[in-house]
Amino acid sequence: MISISRGIIRVENSGKILSLDADGRMIYYNDGIYTYRRSLMNDVIRINQRHGRRVKILNNNEKRIIINEFYDILNNINEPSLPKINDGYKFLINESMRLLNIYHGTIPIVPPDRYHSLYIRITYGCPWNKCTFCSLYKNINYNINRYLDAEIEMLNDYFKRSLESRTGIFLGDANAIGINKNVLFKSIEKIKSYFNMPFYSFSDSFTSPLNTNNDDLLRLKGYGFKMIYIGLESASYKVLKFFNKSLNLDVTEKYINAIKDAGINIGLIIMDIKGSLYKSHVNETSKFIKSLNLDKNDILYISKLIPGFELREHAYYNGIDLKGNQKSIENFIETNARVSKYNIKEALY
Ligand code: SF4
Repeated sequence: MISISRGIIRVENSGKILSLDADGRMIYYNDGIYTYRRSLMNDVIRINQRHGRRVKILNNNEKRIIINEFYDILNNINEPSLPKINDGYKFLINESMRLLNIYHGTIPIVPPDRYHSLYIRITYGCPWNKCTFCSLYKNINYNINRYLDAEIEMLNDYFKRSLESRTGIFLGDANAIGINKNVLFKSIEKIKSYFNMPFYSFSDSFTSPLNTNNDDLLRLKGYGFKMIYIGLESASYKVLKFFNKSLNLDVTEKYINAIKDAGINIGLIIMDIKGSLYKSHVNETSKFIKSLNLDKNDILYISKLIPGFELREHAYYNGIDLKGNQKSIENFIETNARVSKYNIKEALY
């Protein structure tokens, strides 16, 4: 069975399900056991739904096998509406290289429900860039993207037949809306002259509130902003100090309320932390989340803390233990927002 809708081709064949964009690029493949999602940068993520959604990023050899299997099935279906791509693996490598050139590098991260956005980088990096657990933008200076106009045109060409498969525009990187508002609004207007989709973006709740007022947020809503994602991580000042996250809870609450009042939804990210900070983290964070006026259009993401070398070292020198068998913070959260897991491993564009 073949269906083509909104820039996506879906094929069901002998218990296997294939989905690709109208430019021929693999999106999903279900072989009857596993689901494989291909990111635009050509990572293939194997998802095992039967065992609590276990996730594995395939190595190059495994990736080649799966991609070739996908295009072999496709090429053997006698249906003129389906693209015929001879060397699928090579084709996808070339496609990801094209994208890498357009963006001048990789895309560090997107929220879990934004994999299928059109990522448009209007800024590089993060204005803070000092959190001890985060190495996403370490070598990048926070700056506006001088190549924006050219990138928009190239992206328009890249998604020539499959633009409809993109479910919105994600403005990158870590804090696109924190820049000078004249630059921001001009960039959004430029983007809107090419693409007609809702907007999404990360923000922080300590640098952005300094230069983003209620009128700015209303204007963003007017442009079609649907959701702003904020990394709260914790409402415990002990934890925030350990993370070197310069966040004030009163300012955060006011900023969240202002975003909600403007009619934009919130995606709030908190961490699942174990060990010696657990008690303070769970008590303070669950209390703070409960006090927020979140509703069913908002999403609370729970992201497992995966300490890298630097954080483990920082913990060691500060006498903090990051291991423990405690229950997930999810068990203590009371909110009207939807609650979802944020697996950073899967957050690939
Ligand atoms: S504010 Fe966000 S992006 Fe910036 S360093 Fe902290 S966690 Fe990383």
